[in-house]
Amino acid sequence: MGPLTESFVFLLQQIQFADDMQEFTKFPTKTGRRSLSRSISQSSTDSYSSAASYTDSSDDEVSPRDKQQTNSKGSSNFCVKNIKQAEFGRREIEIAEQDMSALISLRKRAQGEKPLAGAKIVGCTHITAQTAVLIETLCALGAQCRWSACNIYSTQNEVAAALAEAGVAVFAWKGESEDDFWWCIDRCVNMDGWQANMILDDGGDLTHWVYKKYPNVFKKIRGIVEESVTGVHRLYQLSKAGKLCVPAMNVNDSVTKQKFDNLYCCRESILDGLKRTTDVMFGGKQVVVCGYGEVGKGCCAALKALGAIVYITEIDPICALQACMDGFRVVKLSEVIRQVDVVITCTGNKNVVTREHLDRMKNSCIVCNMGHSNTEIDVTSLRTPELTWERVRSQVDHVIWPDGKRVVLLAEGRLLNLSCSTVPTFVLSITATTQALALIELYNAPEGRYKQDVYLLPKKMDEYVASLHLPSFDAHLTELTDDQAKYLGLNKNGPFKPNYYRY
Ligand code: NAD
Repeated sequence: MGPLTESFVFLLQQIQFADDMQEFTKFPTKTGRRSLSRSISQSSTDSYSSAASYTDSSDDEVSPRDKQQTNSKGSSNFCVKNIKQAEFGRREIEIAEQDMSALISLRKRAQGEKPLAGAKIVGCTHITAQTAVLIETLCALGAQCRWSACNIYSTQNEVAAALAEAGVAVFAWKGESEDDFWWCIDRCVNMDGWQANMILDDGGDLTHWVYKKYPNVFKKIRGIVEESVTGVHRLYQLSKAGKLCVPAMNVNDSVTKQKFDNLYCCRESILDGLKRTTDVMFGGKQVVVCGYGEVGKGCCAALKALGAIVYITEIDPICALQACMDGFRVVKLSEVIRQVDVVITCTGNKNVVTREHLDRMKNSCIVCNMGHSNTEIDVTSLRTPELTWERVRSQVDHVIWPDGKRVVLLAEGRLLNLSCSTVPTFVLSITATTQALALIELYNAPEGRYKQDVYLLPKKMDEYVASLHLPSFDAHLTELTDDQAKYLGLNKNGPFKPNYYRY
């Protein structure tokens, strides 16, 4: 690890968690914490239903692109659904901050040093209260940010409004069209007198847009931080083709991201997304989960715990064997498609659920996607004249066959949890802290440390992201004795595992 990384790890070590914890306990006394968490869920429900009611208002018929809006400081350098929701969004951000103590600590500790001073970050991620905490942390560390959404359904409008009110150039709203989506990205990149020097992407669409439309921007870019499987895959393809012209950090494959965001986040949010949209009861239901990677493992653990009968499909014998050992039946989709009540895709692949599968599903089968993109379920194949689409709830379509059979399609095959539910703040804190560190590292790295290639976050930083979150649990790490460190051949301060270690 280079000196700068070391210095930031050192900086993190200095964070006075005791102080921070004291400050946080201003809110969460034991009872306070309980009432806080009640207010979190109430607020998320509020935000959910309020968002729906905003959607119902006549105001909503006007596209944000056609509205003239200014924040209280007179700036109109943003495009959101309704700037008047800013106060409500601010409350959502403050609630998220309660469970993102590591990021807040980083903000407090490093805002004096401003490690991102001069950084102009263009970002394309989900725009939620948790991302807002990340964006505001980056701003507190000295960066200027312009932001769009990586998913047309996942933006929390009130949060986007709060960011715009705080002066962040945010271009996003829930329910963007495809055209809006690219327009928002373009507004972030294409701005007179402002040129990005860092990219934070989730899915690779922003990076792709810059490559396609503004390749010259890369002359100033110091690095790309990419969060998703899909985006990372695109980066490796660019690198292989010799077309990657700046260093890129693969945050997706950092251990903290893989294990916590993909596994634990999906373990909690799959049920939330399904219940909010369909009110389904899981006990005894037959569910097939396609893909037994990190996301699939999380989904299956939650479904099994509620008494669902879970089948797995896999292409990889190792993951298939893991599924067997975890007590799941590994099948081909075609073997169970007639009998299952729910189909969930988590592969990161395309056309995993085809029209043929959809034709064979039974009445009322629920179909949804937990993988990154909207390619896993062949939704386009359902847009044929003999099938009728009926929107029964927000994000819930009944696709009706001529014989009356209905398939319940959620979020039109896009990401279920981010489109239809909220995601646990704590896991997102881990990802956001990793992203912030990756940006700091790439932005400050001396020339030559990173070439035009894709890098993983150094393991020591990964370990620090985890250790920064331990105080929330009052978890106490055991320290190696000198003798033990020598015996294991380790530095007492880590890294504690070799790079090839599988957690
Ligand atoms: P992973 O690579 O660990 O798992 C994907 C699994 O799918 C692999 O085991 C692979 O062998 C299997 N697979 C691929 N094609 C298949 C097919 N045709 N049929 C059956 N299995 C197949 O990846 P992951 O970390 O589990 O992520 C999966 C997807 O979920 C990615 O697209 C990722 O971006 C997305 N993701 C979603 C969320 C969320 O909040 N919903 C969070 C993190 C990641």
